[in-house]
Amino acid sequence: LLDAGFLRRWMTAAAASVDREADRLTALDSAIGDADHGSNLRRGFTAVASELEKEPPDTPGAVLALAGRHLISTVGGASGPLYGTLLRRAGKALGDAAAVSRQELADALRAGVDAVRQLGGAAPGDKTMVDALVPAVDALGTSFAAARSAAEEGALATTPLRARKGRASYLGERSVGHQDPGAASSALLVAALAEAAG
Ligand code: ADP
Ligand code: MG
Ligand code: MG
Repeated sequence: LLDAGFLRRWMTAAAASVDREADRLTALDSAIGDADHGSNLRRGFTAVASELEKEPPDTPGAVLALAGRHLISTVGGASGPLYGTLLRRAGKALGDAAAVSRQELADALRAGVDAVRQLGGAAPGDKTMVDALVPAVDALGTSFAAARSAAEEGALATTPLRARKGRASYLGERSVGHQDPGAASSALLVAALAEAAG
């Protein structure tokens, strides 16, 4: 079973990965956005990691709720409210259980992804983070490693798509041929989850 310590390790691994990959995320966003995705997420996850260290919550749901709150309050840009909603909604779905199964985490994250879709109006194929998150939560029922592979494939598969949501949609056809930065960062977050699982 996955306890609060596991969820904290996920968030710490996510913060380290976003920090390492921030330049790549910003480069992707400079091609079809405003060149801030890496710095946005680095600011957000740095805040999450430091808050978790200050006052470590003792349930999985509370870890995700805290992380979501801090992403919303520290990330300027579309990705802050979207990732914040993903984690807050997933945290709420976990309630106050002291430990949860992988399947319960998968169900909670699916509720989170549904909330992201509702907030941003994006469907799979619109060239957003949703293209990595949906296959990842589907595959999480199988294993952490399957979720990581599915997210990576979903992120790579955004390259030939035309953006229909967010800033990249302003480019129309010119968004084709570039990987979506938010789908790339979602793949990093799912890889960090698999890393926390060992
Ligand atoms: P901003 O576009 O405000 O500068 P970021 O650069 O941090 O914000 O994040 C951009 C990413 O957010 C995109 O690559 C995309 O994956 C995601 N995104 C933007 N708008 C939406 C939306 N409506 N629904 C889902 N994801 C979105
Ligand atoms: Mg941006
Ligand atoms: Mg921006």
